[in-house]
Amino acid sequence: MSGLTDEVDLLVTGGEVVRPGSAGHEVERLDVAVVDGRITGLLAPGDPRPGVVRRELSALGCLVVPGFVNAHSHSYGMLGRTQADLLPLEPWMVYANAITANRTEREVALAATLSCVELVRSGTTTVLDHLGGQVSGLGAAAQAYLDFGMRAVVAPMIGDVPLHHTVELTGAQWPSALWEELEAAPVPSAGALLDATKDLLGSWHGREGRIRVFVGPSGPQRCTDDLLRGCAELAADFDTGVHMHLIETRNQAATVRRLYGTTAVEHLDRLGLVNERFMGAHGVWCSESELRLLGERGAALVHNPWSNLYVGSGIAPLTAWRRHGVRIAIGTDGANCGCDLSMPLAMRLAASLHRAHAFDPAQWPTPGEIFTAATAGSAAALGWADEIGTVEEGKAADLAVIDASGTAYVPRYDPLAQLVYGETGGNVRHTVIAGQVVMQDRVIASVDERDLLREAQEAATALRQRNDGLFRAADAQAEVLSRASATAPVPADWPGAG
Ligand SMILES: [Zn+2]
Repeated sequence: MSGLTDEVDLLVTGGEVVRPGSAGHEVERLDVAVVDGRITGLLAPGDPRPGVVRRELSALGCLVVPGFVNAHSHSYGMLGRTQADLLPLEPWMVYANAITANRTEREVALAATLSCVELVRSGTTTVLDHLGGQVSGLGAAAQAYLDFGMRAVVAPMIGDVPLHHTVELTGAQWPSALWEELEAAPVPSAGALLDATKDLLGSWHGREGRIRVFVGPSGPQRCTDDLLRGCAELAADFDTGVHMHLIETRNQAATVRRLYGTTAVEHLDRLGLVNERFMGAHGVWCSESELRLLGERGAALVHNPWSNLYVGSGIAPLTAWRRHGVRIAIGTDGANCGCDLSMPLAMRLAASLHRAHAFDPAQWPTPGEIFTAATAGSAAALGWADEIGTVEEGKAADLAVIDASGTAYVPRYDPLAQLVYGETGGNVRHTVIAGQVVMQDRVIASVDERDLLREAQEAATALRQRNDGLFRAADAQAEVLSRASATAPVPADWPGAG
């Protein structure tokens, strides 16, 4: 291979590189040369070596793959595992709000750093963090990603319609005192939310080439038209993306149709949001017509199969997504609903789950398709495909080096399929982001994990005490909200799971 320079900052040696070829992925013994954070050469065994190698990283016995790109996550979930279990999404959300509220900037940063640890340990080099909490304090998360060495898109999650107005329950179905209490709670204005998002964009978008900011409306039914229009304008002004939860549950599909007299995607399209900048998370209950429009507009959906199971949302119609040409990314969702942030485990489930409903095996996604969705597909959804998602000369050196000497890979037949079906993340040996070795031999460079975990335990205890009133209030709301989740119908024109 060409691209040799005399001096390289990093040479990843002895591994087998997985990269796109003319007939699927190719696995080839290549050394990866890196200068200034970019891949400058892929060197075959007989090629000349660079004269000066500032750092060598052994990948002997390993697969070298593009770092995974987690296209939907919430770092706040790192401080809230199991704080809402055995509940569907609508009641689950009131507990999620209770763990997100009243956090200090240090706690915001701590949650982001904890997510980095879990991400790089399982080979993820880029994350989209749909950030919860007060927008004004969320720069702390961006700073934490920068300090850790992560590549991240942060999208402050904003909404100006309260949760109790986004479910299929009338006021009469709530205990009157609780309804009055919810009605009296302050709701942020669209203008204030847009101003805060604009400040974050101005301060952080594009920082050091590793941090980007997306506009992050929480979901169509959680935002007024004014807020959604403002989001479309901000995304255009800053030439950035829009990230939003989209028709995750049957309740949401019903609410949107009642509120707008049309589907969510049609409503968003009228407000100027559905285009190649748009990425919706979940899309479990999107109708055929919504998927058709998403495909026509070049928009992306993020598949989060663990979260969809954990909160009982359902099984996304992946076969229909593919049929309509919707661009597909993969995410884990937050650790408090997606179980963990392992992209290899998300790939395994995405590759297997749809076989239960798509009875024609010709419709089943292949391991290569799922691997592509978790790397280049997610990168494209983030508008970052020119730099990340594949191991190629000229791209950023974002790599996961995976030890392939164990039982998941031996005996060896098809290493890529063995990775998709058998990898947990536990075999990831090194992780490289923008040419920096953020984890070597499973030791993370930028933080002391023991100190970090000790602080996380203390912070979680303090947060739980601080928000005790919110947790107690959540119990009463959850009981009512569970009814909305249980009774919402399957939307018309839904293509079916599989
Ligand atoms: Zn989410």
